[in-house]
Amino acid sequence: MRRRLIAGNWKMHSTPDETESFISRFLPLIGSAEADAAIFPPFTSLDRAGRLLRSSDVRLGAQDVYFEAKGAFTGAVSPGMLVACGCRYVLVGHSERRHTFGDDDPIVRRKLDATLSGGLDPVLCMGETIEERRAGATFDVLEAQLIAALRKLPPDLFSRVVIAYEPVWAIGTGETATPEQAEEVSAWIRARVGAAFGAPAAERIRILYGGSVKPDNARSLLTLPNVDGALVGGASLDPEGFAAIISAGVR
Ligand code: PEP
Repeated sequence: MRRRLIAGNWKMHSTPDETESFISRFLPLIGSAEADAAIFPPFTSLDRAGRLLRSSDVRLGAQDVYFEAKGAFTGAVSPGMLVACGCRYVLVGHSERRHTFGDDDPIVRRKLDATLSGGLDPVLCMGETIEERRAGATFDVLEAQLIAALRKLPPDLFSRVVIAYEPVWAIGTGETATPEQAEEVSAWIRARVGAAFGAPAAERIRILYGGSVKPDNARSLLTLPNVDGALVGGASLDPEGFAAIISAGVR
């Protein structure tokens, strides 16, 4: 049985003090050992969050990473710096990175490789735009993103990858994929992983759904056979709401 992962992507929200206040309200609300919970605050809050979460089961992740270890890369943050803050995960290829910051498929691949070799687990985000869906190109787009990010990845490294299916049209829009759409794509991703990495790898990999997940729609998405958790943006900023989503994900 795959353990569910409910991850909160805070995007560009929360100072270190606000992060501390979130954590002090959030920790007493969750207690389940049946689902993994993770928060992804901005870089500037990671060190504080890492210290506060150290003795809890809540995991910490970063929203991005650079693919070099150190050097003249102004503004960049390396995998080693994230590990030192207590991170376990990194979001790689989030649609806002792809569309606002120009992270194309080769950059996504380099970030994924650097994440893995730096000892962190990547949450590889992928998804189609509304134009691509309307054009019937959803699976072509996902195929291209999957191949670019994962082709020839050694099995021991692949086993640490989490995939998040996030239709771009559902991110931050309030428009959620239907359970049928989320299940159709997640099942397709699992089958595609099976074809490339074998049935045991497909059975093991965690596939999350992301895109306007809220407390009131979480259960319908998190109980789908091929959906193993959620990547939650806006709704993860509220401790009570995020805890309610996590409870909805407990099998
Ligand atoms: C996200 O940022 O990955 C996301 C899914 O955002 P939201 O839940 O706000 O749509």
